[in-house]
Amino acid sequence: MTLLEGKIAVVTGGSRGLGRAVIERFLEDGAQVVTGSRTPPVEPFQGEVKWYELDVSDRASVEELIQNTFQSHGRIDILVNNAGIEIEKTIEQSNDQDWDQVAGINMKGVYLCTQATLPIMRSNGGGSIINISSISSFVADPNLALYNASKAWVSGFTRSVAVDHGRDGIRCNAVCPGWIMTDMLMQTFAQASDVEAAMQAAIAKHPLGRLGEPRDIANTVAWLASDQSSFVSGQTITVDGGLTAAAPIDPSDHG
Ligand code: NAP
Repeated sequence: MTLLEGKIAVVTGGSRGLGRAVIERFLEDGAQVVTGSRTPPVEPFQGEVKWYELDVSDRASVEELIQNTFQSHGRIDILVNNAGIEIEKTIEQSNDQDWDQVAGINMKGVYLCTQATLPIMRSNGGGSIINISSISSFVADPNLALYNASKAWVSGFTRSVAVDHGRDGIRCNAVCPGWIMTDMLMQTFAQASDVEAAMQAAIAKHPLGRLGEPRDIANTVAWLASDQSSFVSGQTITVDGGLTAAAPIDPSDHG
């Protein structure tokens, strides 16, 4: 029997990047997957995945996805709140439209998807919710002020859901990825005058000597989704190749 045999999973933002890697891993583990994003996946999946057009910041869109999943599959065992965006600005540079976009997708989207799924999970007798947060929830990346704050909110949200709904057999955890090779990270590197040098400098900061692969996150998400983590709830788990374990100042840099 595979790790997620017979489980029904909803993964938001599965068209590319981390969401796509999570879906691929879930399919290998025997889950049936429903996903949604604003634009369709760039390539078809190697397995049965139902895709819906979805804007996580819109209540009607989220409720349609969750209700359609419930009607077609009869239950939801796993919810991965993965959809997210970043806007490269300080607070002073940000405008109300930036706030609405970042808060709408990274915060309200997580709230709406979780709220719509909780009653279904309760009626199943339980489930596992995994929120994709970031190391930016506890260390501030420069020029990502609204993003950093939105991810810190996800950590608090995760603990509240775990505390309020644990008695219903519902677990809720967050994964905090570090620097993982996806379109989102490539957009950040693209700002550098020398992209290759910027990537090498980032790699040099990682004790494991490499950037993350989407699969690194998918493996952790699969474990949290499975019964192997049945006593883990309310936690934020960092997957960053040791990046944030290092002290910020290295004495050898100064002779
Ligand atoms: P990505 O490659 O840009 O993919 C983001 C996904 O979210 C896409 O499928 C996108 O599809 C979807 N999405 C965005 N806005 C949406 C909306 N309003 N409604 C529905 N879907 C939406 O980013 P990624 O790197 O895979 O990031 C995935 C998650 O990991 C995000 O929450 C991000 O903050 C987090 N994270 C990433 C890294 C990293 O290094 N890559 C590090 C820490 C945390 P559409 O655009 O078609 O809607």
